Amino acid sequence: MSRSERYAAIDLGGTKVRAIVADLDGQIYGEDIRLSRASEGLAATTDTMVACLEAACVAAGVNTADIKGLGIASPGAVDAYNGVVPEAPQLPGWRDVPIVEIMSKRLGVPVWLENDANAAALGENRFGAGKGAKNMLYMTVSTGVGGGIIIDGDLYRGTRGAAGELGHMIIDYDGPPCGCGGNGCLESLISGTAIAKEGERLIDAGKAPELTKLRDAEGAVTAEMMNRAVKAGDEAVAEYADRVGMYLGVALASYVNIFNPSVIVIGGGVSQSGEMFMDQAVATMKRKAMRAPLADVTVKLGQLQDRAGTLGMIARLKAAVEDGD
Ligand SMILES: [Zn+2]
Repeated sequence: MSRSERYAAIDLGGTKVRAIVADLDGQIYGEDIRLSRASEGLAATTDTMVACLEAACVAAGVNTADIKGLGIASPGAVDAYNGVVPEAPQLPGWRDVPIVEIMSKRLGVPVWLENDANAAALGENRFGAGKGAKNMLYMTVSTGVGGGIIIDGDLYRGTRGAAGELGHMIIDYDGPPCGCGGNGCLESLISGTAIAKEGERLIDAGKAPELTKLRDAEGAVTAEMMNRAVKAGDEAVAEYADRVGMYLGVALASYVNIFNPSVIVIGGGVSQSGEMFMDQAVATMKRKAMRAPLADVTVKLGQLQDRAGTLGMIARLKAAVEDGD
């Protein structure tokens, strides 16, 4: 491997596509972000992915044809082994899409695929908050709740590559409906969507005067807005934030008991604005987890933010190049 060789990664989301051109040490030379046009269907989205990658190559001063490999992080329960996206709620119309074959034909470069949260787990493990941790869990709390599991320094994918869905740990089997079809999964209780919905409910019930002011001034309720309402003195919002922290904390305690990780990295937009429940989550984890595995674990916020997925795919390419993996 030559130091000057350039690789690329694409993080495909329902709203945005991000492409980077980097070397295998995670140094980024060019980047482009644009709307993914997911609602327009498969062809529009793959066109956007190609255009986004080409723009990142221009920014990096390299020809697209000179890229040595491309990693794609995609939402959904992807089949990483066969390079197929069976379906993803964020990508309407995608059914068993052989995205690796499509992109490698269009670009003439070898392509690898991972689920976006698994990619982000690799990113934080190689370049971010969990750097060097042999046993690490990654959670992303944003619109949904995703996860990734690193065991003995490698991504744990499971039998068909669908492992790591930490957001679908069932906390309350009679709880609210979840996007996966079940009830009371962690995601149904602490996702940005669930938090905003409860915020609206507290406003409608007349229990959140500060949040009401913020909502009226700025539009739709967000977790970050609720954080500010707590600081401004909304007690009902603070009580709810405590409960969200508790839900996350009992999930963390279960993960600690099952995996005995040294680091749990929590990324995603909600976690970045969620001081309101992160303290409670860690306190609850410490109360509920077993003493021996608890002694080893540190909970950290993610460091790579929106680049966790793309840098994770660079880490994936590095493993492929160095280990033939
Ligand atoms: Zn679920």
